[in-house]
Amino acid sequence: MYYKMKIIIVGAGLSGLSTAIALRKFIPTSQSLEVKIYDNINPATGQATEQESSNVATSQLGAGLGLEANGIRVLDNLDPTLKSKVYAAGFPCTHFTWKTAGDWLLGREYVDVLPISRPFLINCLQETLPAGVVIHQKVARVITRQGKKPVVQFEDESPDETADLVIGADGIRSTVRRDLFGEDEKYRPQYAGICAVGGVLDVPLPKHLLDNPTMVFYMGSTGVFGYTGLTQADKNKLLYWSVYETDLPGRGLKLDHDLMIQQIRERHGDWTDPLIRQCLQKANLDNVYPIFVMPDLPYWGRDGCVLVGDAVHALPPRSGQGASQAFEDGEALGLLLSGYLEKGYDTNEAISRSILGLFEIRAGRVQRIRADAMRWKDPKMPMSWLKTCGLYITLFILVRVNRVLSFFRRGESWNVRDAVSKYLKR
Ligand SMILES: Cc1cc2nc3c(=O)[nH]c(=O)nc-3n(C[C@H](O)[C@H](O)[C@H](O)COP(=O)(O)OP(=O)(O)OC[C@H]3O[C@@H](n4cnc5c(N)ncnc54)[C@H](O)[C@@H]3O)c2cc1C
Repeated sequence: MYYKMKIIIVGAGLSGLSTAIALRKFIPTSQSLEVKIYDNINPATGQATEQESSNVATSQLGAGLGLEANGIRVLDNLDPTLKSKVYAAGFPCTHFTWKTAGDWLLGREYVDVLPISRPFLINCLQETLPAGVVIHQKVARVITRQGKKPVVQFEDESPDETADLVIGADGIRSTVRRDLFGEDEKYRPQYAGICAVGGVLDVPLPKHLLDNPTMVFYMGSTGVFGYTGLTQADKNKLLYWSVYETDLPGRGLKLDHDLMIQQIRERHGDWTDPLIRQCLQKANLDNVYPIFVMPDLPYWGRDGCVLVGDAVHALPPRSGQGASQAFEDGEALGLLLSGYLEKGYDTNEAISRSILGLFEIRAGRVQRIRADAMRWKDPKMPMSWLKTCGLYITLFILVRVNRVLSFFRRGESWNVRDAVSKYLKR
């Protein structure tokens, strides 16, 4: 008699969807498998199950993000068709351009990065899965017990579900993390002192961006303003964002759109670039994203329950790695579980070993990425004239130092397959 392994994923964001694709791809077909994903947001509408959630100052689907080469490589490993679809939908760039508020070039950093609409990326991932895998339902609690299977309870009080493995892919305010670690402050995300706002502007992309696709970052005394194309399929969509230092906005506050627009105009109104001025004139901001960063957790899972993505390692956006690290988690977990099953371990043993393996393989990598990104401390805004000059000089030097370092680091790249295969051979 065959045993059907049941896996429940909480959260159909980038980590939950990519993990489901990885599990379905890598787990050997000899192992009967059921994967379900529960999400409290209806992907078709972007609305949460609770009416009030659509008004709070939190991210729902967001406008766009930049996906770096390692993340795209994971998508290719999961499904080359998915990768091609994502690539065609994005705006492939070869570098970041750093400029001053007065439009002086500080430097270029050569990085392959794919700006893409976040809802589109989520849809692409979801379309890779069969209909019915993603279920619109909010998880209230996951109960873990030593030696027993984890139990998932739902907000709407529909019957509890037991699974062999529960994966918490439920983002920065993870319910599953709370159930594993409790409310202790040291296991909760920390506000990074900055917020981001942004959107998409319908405007013809300038020739310099079409000829030389890049993500442009303008630095000034009041924050950072960035823009890039959203998709190569439409040359009239500009993705823009503004990042600024501020106290943490009150949670649950209804957003004042007029105030957000007034504030972005105050921050960047006298910056020189004509595209920034257009963005400010027509700005239509729909959200504030307070940036939170996760501290290190002593483990990523136990008793048949494991965390992936932002739930376990939310990174500062400056790392450019949030989405890619979420994808790497999914690929690593899929490969580990299939590796242990192929070695002949029973379901429970394969799951416990995979939970430990995920932590041992991935924790060090995300720690290094976070440490690199946090090396840069956000100064108090607005900065004095002197501090702003200091920032420009530092950036001017840093971009060049990074370019030299990356020349020597060519060919050195961490990849999930090698890391997992080395781990499984131990
Ligand atoms: C302003 C900003 C800019 C960013 N820019 C970039 C960038 O340029 N490049 C990059 O790589 N990364 C970027 N990131 C980070 C990236 O967006 C995240 O790392 C990534 O989305 C994490 O995916 P996730 O699936 O772990 O979490 P999420 O995307 O948060 O998904 C979690 C899912 O879980 C669901 N959920 C939550 N609780 C429950 C529950 N109780 N029951 C059921 N479902 C639940 C939510 O509805 C959601 O769909 C940025 C982040 C921010 C905030």
